[in-house]
Amino acid sequence: MAQTPQQVMEQVVFERIHFPKLFTALLNKGYQIIGPVLKDGAIIYDPLNSADDLPIGYIDEQDGGVYRLKKQKEQSLFGYVVGPHAWKKFLFPSALRLWSAKRSDKGFSITAEEAVSPKFAFIGVRSCDIHAIAIQDKVFTAGQYTDASYQSRRADTFILAVNCGRSGGTCFCTSMHTGPTATFGFDLAVTEIIEGNAHYFLTEAGSELGAEILREIPTRIARKKEMETAGSLLQATADNMKRRLDTTDIKDLLYHNSEHPRWDDVAARCLTCANCTMVCPTCFCTTVEDVTDLTGEHAERWRKWDSCFTRDFSYIHSGSVRSSAKSRYRQWMTHKLASWIDQFGTSGCVGCGRCITWCPVGIDITEEVRAIRESTTSIGKSTVPG
Ligand code: SF4
Ligand code: SF4
Repeated sequence: MAQTPQQVMEQVVFERIHFPKLFTALLNKGYQIIGPVLKDGAIIYDPLNSADDLPIGYIDEQDGGVYRLKKQKEQSLFGYVVGPHAWKKFLFPSALRLWSAKRSDKGFSITAEEAVSPKFAFIGVRSCDIHAIAIQDKVFTAGQYTDASYQSRRADTFILAVNCGRSGGTCFCTSMHTGPTATFGFDLAVTEIIEGNAHYFLTEAGSELGAEILREIPTRIARKKEMETAGSLLQATADNMKRRLDTTDIKDLLYHNSEHPRWDDVAARCLTCANCTMVCPTCFCTTVEDVTDLTGEHAERWRKWDSCFTRDFSYIHSGSVRSSAKSRYRQWMTHKLASWIDQFGTSGCVGCGRCITWCPVGIDITEEVRAIRESTTSIGKSTVPG
């Protein structure tokens, strides 16, 4: 697992031509490599056999409810930003068997699922997603109860971070202080540079394991000019970010405006489809389902991703606590940006922009906060009736 905080090490450069050696080094250490691949018109995370499986030369265009891929001449390995998948897919799977039971003469015998996991090497993790993983680490392992499955999946995870050389249309990581440069939680962090015929990766190790992997690849000390080029590229990414979210006193802003008419406005547009929670790298709501086979000899309990956008999620004896779209959207956004801070000491949003891109009607969390803030002269004083 990557170290936190980042261990400061010398920056080195390796050439694009040597990128496959990174895969060889990780495979030799028994890692299952997971990274971005092109599938069904989107860039998702899946097992990779080689560096050739990466979406080479692709960039993405994103906006509210819009996602398009474009092929370019430049053969970048990491020209796109984040897609509909988050790394939680591997650390906190969407369906997980918790136990199975078998009927015997004496009743049922129950076998708990063993928490075993391959050693994952995540390739191409963006800074916002490193923050999201750190948030889920807290949720699943830092409280009174530890999630054994998450802990075993996370224990041996290798992280190759990629600093973002461009921002997506819906990113706002600079507002959430989560990017675009990875500052902790990685084993290796690279900035991809393409200039004329030069194509190389400015690299730093964030852990002893990262340094060990790096020793398997031909590298040289980075030149001052190369570090300046990378610095300017990352600064330009931050400067060009199109969306912003003002987080000043955000907890009080949302707590004091729970009856703001904007919630009715957004509810009129929201389809309660739950897409935003499925794509969000920090959302962790689940339900539990028991299933039996037709003979009644075998039963299983499964944990599955759920969403606060469904009516059933808040169902308790004879009714749903949050029966309206308004109450469900308000619950989600207030939890993300306010009550999450009370619960876990951090915002539940890392500014990745996925919920904006993948909302079929383009609802934008930054815009919803702005609308409430702009109609409110000071915290707790709404200028609108409500
Ligand atoms: S905000 Fe958008 S993505 Fe989320 S539930 Fe509503 S319509 Fe679906
Ligand atoms: S709330 Fe939206 S922008 Fe924030 S982390 Fe979740 S998906 Fe990303």
